[in-house]
Amino acid sequence: MPLGCSASSQYQDFIKIVSDVDEMQRSCQALRAAGKRIAFVPTMGYLHEGHLSLLHEGRRRGDVLVLSVFVNPAQFGAGEDLDRYPRDFARDEQLAREAGVDLIFCPQAEEVYPPDFSSAVDVEGALTGTLEGACRPGHFRGVATVVAKLFNIVQPHLALFGRKDFQQAVLIGRMVEELNLDVEIDTAPIVREEDGLALSSRNQYLSGDEREAARSLSRALRRVRELFAGGERDPDRLRSEAGRLLRRAGAEPEYVAVVDPRGLEPVEQAGPDAVCAIAAHVGETRLIDNAPLAGPSTL
Ligand code: AMP
Repeated sequence: MPLGCSASSQYQDFIKIVSDVDEMQRSCQALRAAGKRIAFVPTMGYLHEGHLSLLHEGRRRGDVLVLSVFVNPAQFGAGEDLDRYPRDFARDEQLAREAGVDLIFCPQAEEVYPPDFSSAVDVEGALTGTLEGACRPGHFRGVATVVAKLFNIVQPHLALFGRKDFQQAVLIGRMVEELNLDVEIDTAPIVREEDGLALSSRNQYLSGDEREAARSLSRALRRVRELFAGGERDPDRLRSEAGRLLRRAGAEPEYVAVVDPRGLEPVEQAGPDAVCAIAAHVGETRLIDNAPLAGPSTL
């Protein structure tokens, strides 16, 4: 049972909290049958303003707003932070209530993945073989599988994802298209701290010094955009300048890539819609960020 998610179903101030998979599916089926447009925001909880921006968008675009809070074990690799991933369901529930969520789905891992669970959704090829997929083997298989399951349970008309996890959003768009899933996918901009750090549930792992070093991801992206605006078109020079800034601040880059935003292949010549994507370790914490080389960004 997720922390604080103590009842399979309860109504409180018009928010319904469901942990039972069948009950959730039945509730959503009934809402659909009643002609309600379901907007869905899947999360791993420990909500912050990034999640809330998705919820506000969902509130605007759906009749019914569904939030899932599920720390999905299948997308964590061995040695990753599954056990220490932050959880605070009571706080999530309060924030969800304030954001106008109608239904929170917070299943137990054992119900989502019974002991004999043997199915998976795999989006293969370049989309998942690069960036996060290359660094975290099995991660996107875990993501695609849980998102497909959540879509089948919640049956949303619209599902919202953050561009913070830009590769994830691209791969889910591909999965929906190729598997003919009847759900509209949309993405929302990255929400950042005032100093540029992209909000992440993992930011709370950072000590004071690490928090300072973590700023280098957004600073490096800003620098890359400046260089591009100044005429630099060589992706290697953009990447090496970003890497230099990261290391100088005490962050250890795992990758700095300049990729095509659709196929995610490295570009030979940087164009305005190419995306610079960064993963870096700050102490024990692994952070990711990205930005297009030109055009709107929240940096
Ligand atoms: P997570 O709980 O980390 O799995 O994230 C749930 C959703 O929130 C995903 O679609 C993320 O891309 C999105 N998200 C996380 N952080 C941010 C952020 N700083 N800005 C916008 N969306 C975010």
